Parts: sequence; structure tokens; C-alpha cells
Amino acid sequence: MTATAPITQDLVTLPRKLPDGPINLVGLTRNALREVLIAHGTPEKQAKMRVGQIWQWIYEKGVRNFSDMTNLAKPYRALLAEQFVIQVPEVVSKQVSLDGTRKYLMRIAGGHEVETVYIPEEDRGTLCISSQVGCTLTCSFCHTGTQKLVRNLTAGEIIGQVLVARDDLGEWPEIGAPKNETRLLSNIVLMGMGEPLYNFDNVRDAMKIAMDPEGISLSRRRITLSTSGVVPEIAKTAQEIGCQLAISFHATTDEVRDKLVPINKRWNIAELLDALRTYPKVSNSERITFEYVMLKDVNDTNEDARRLIKLIKGIPAKINLIPFNEWPGSPYQRSDWDRIQAFADIIYKAGYASPIRTPRGEDIMAACGQLKSATERERKSRKQIQAEAGL
Ligand code: SAH
Ligand code: SF4
Repeated sequence: MTATAPITQDLVTLPRKLPDGPINLVGLTRNALREVLIAHGTPEKQAKMRVGQIWQWIYEKGVRNFSDMTNLAKPYRALLAEQFVIQVPEVVSKQVSLDGTRKYLMRIAGGHEVETVYIPEEDRGTLCISSQVGCTLTCSFCHTGTQKLVRNLTAGEIIGQVLVARDDLGEWPEIGAPKNETRLLSNIVLMGMGEPLYNFDNVRDAMKIAMDPEGISLSRRRITLSTSGVVPEIAKTAQEIGCQLAISFHATTDEVRDKLVPINKRWNIAELLDALRTYPKVSNSERITFEYVMLKDVNDTNEDARRLIKLIKGIPAKINLIPFNEWPGSPYQRSDWDRIQAFADIIYKAGYASPIRTPRGEDIMAACGQLKSATERERKSRKQIQAEAGL
């Protein structure tokens, strides 16, 4: 790491035990759930069955009280209630955009707040979830990057966002009902606040829960993790999560990427591309999504488009062009539409899908990169943002 790279990782993850209370069962993997049940009086012989039953109540039926777990004996329900809780984030506010996008502000332990966005589409619904309160990285075009990192989310707080969204959507399917295709919440993207690969273990555990065939049961093909390029964690993501990967690429030279995505000073474009080459094979996914934010006069020339094609040669890829979403004090402008279209055409003609992402929920500041909890007021000054952007 260069001395100036603004990257820190001294994060604090809350223990699973709530500050002065019982253990939260939400976010424990099956193994961890088994361990805590045994440690708190469930006979070892029964543990597997109890894990299965409790799992189904929490993740398949959306139950939050042990008293509702009717296939467990009453004294056992009471024992559980004495020692454990089923706790999810609390919705502080919900805004609904004219286009149907829903933005939730959720409060987690310690009084911190994170945002979660639900984006309905014709044939599916995507939940954009957060992995950290704020972000240690300082991408100069991203609103979250102006918020100081407060802490990593626990696995319970990450998967809890999914449970809460399902509550709001009224979507707790009957057991045995068809999965995925007919769902309101059919996809998850880790594109909210934070850098998911700087909170690897909790993100992995939460996504394992989302993919478990007996619970929320989303296919790994319906989960996309977006990273700014934490190179050492990319191989681990392929091996231990196996979800779809999106890379915040955003520039075609190290000089420009250093300014837009400062983690590039730690792992540059060549190192990042190297790490990506093996991802599709190891994770058995078809292709990697390259996200490319369109910033007027910064990274949007035809030459950039051609350089991009050259760089990613040999990597199965799709390029997702994101029109820049402005936020108060942002130091960039969105590229003009005909420029974005011309850029997309060059990529498309080279044989890559090049969809232009439709900004959703702009009227409620729910679009990509606009998330920043309103109560976290520790904003950097406009001057500081511009200095970091090298402007
Ligand atoms: N930290 C992760 C995931 C969260 S950001 C990452 O950086 O990949 C999700 C996506 O939104 C990223 O591609 C990010 O670069 C992009 N983004 C951030 N701010 C944006 C903005 N103001 N307009 C458009 N896209 C933005
Ligand atoms: Fe963090 Fe991603 Fe925003 Fe960069 S783009 S500051 S990594 S949330």
C-alpha cells in the first residue's frame, strides 16, 4: 500500500451476543446454530432436528417469536425464549419512489443506521443491501465514501435486511410453493453501503443463509457481490461464496482509476484483472459484470471504450454502464446521453452486452452510490472531497 492510500481496515464487528442480553439466532450458520443450541441445553442427539425446525421457522416462515414455533414442545419453546432472541434491524423510515423503488433506513445495534433499497422490475425484484455502516474507501464519485466508516455489519444484520424487506413485501411463501421465479424479492445485490469484501466472513455467512435450500433459498446466480477490487479476497469469494461478481471498474488507466477508486493504488488494474481471470471457472459463473460509471469528460471517451475492450480481453464479461447519480456536493457530472450511447455501441460491437443501467429511485436518493444515512452527519467537506478526487 502506498503511504497515501486512504485505506484502513481496523474494523470492529459486534459479537453475536447482544450487549447485555440473549444471543441472536439470526445470522448464525447451521453449524453455529447447532453449537449454541447444544451449549444452552439442547440434547446433542436432537440438535440436528431442532436446527432444521428453527431454521424453517426463521427463514422460511418469517417467525420472530419462539411461542409461534408450534412444532416444538412448549417447555422447549420457553427454554429458547429465555436464552435467545430472533432479532432483525428496525425500520426507522421507508420512502417509496414514483417508480416503485422502496428505500428503507434501518437501525442496527448501537443506534447506527444503514440503507436498503428494493427495486421492483417486471419479471423480478432486487434487494440492494448494505454490508457496512459507511465505507473505509473513498471513491470520489460515491456518496457513501463521504461517510466515515462506523463498523462492519454482523451476518445477522446483513441477512436481517432481507427478512425485513420480506416482511414489508408481505412475502413469506407457503412451504412447497414455487421458488425464485414468482417472487417479489428474487435477487440480492451487495451494492448498498460498504465494501463487502472488507467484511468477508459476515457477508459469506449471510449469503450462505440466503442460498440455503431450506430457507430463503435464492440460487447463487441471483446474488451479485459488487467490489471495488479487494484483490486478495476475490479468489476466496469464488471458493467460499460462489455468487456472481461485479467489479467497480470505472476507468481504463491507472492514473484515472487511482483518482476514482483509490483502492487502485493498492491493487492496480493489471493485478485486478489477473485476479478476475480465474473467477468464472472457480465459481462456475458465466461472466463477470464490469460496472462503469459514466462521468462527463473524465472516463467517457471512445478511446476509453476501446481501451476497456482491450483490457478485459479473454474474461467472460458484461459491461454495465451506470449514468452517474449526482448527490449534494458531488464533484462530477453525468455524461450526456448520446455520449453514453456511443460508448455502449463500441462495447456492444466488440461482442459484449453493454446495458445502460436505468437510474431507479432518484427522487428519494435511492439510486446507486447515493446511499448515506441521514443521521451520520460526519460528512467530509466539499473541499476535502475535491482534494481526494484530485480536482
Ligand atoms: N463498495 C462496493 C459496492 C457498493 S457501490 C463497490 O464499490 O463495488 C455499488 C456500485 O455503485 C459500485 O459500482 C459503485 O462504484 C457505484 N456507484 C457509487 N457511487 C455512484 C454514483 N454516485 N453514481 C453511480 N454509481 C455509483
Ligand atoms: Fe465504498 Fe463502493 Fe462507495 Fe467506493 S463505491 S466508497 S467502495 S461503497
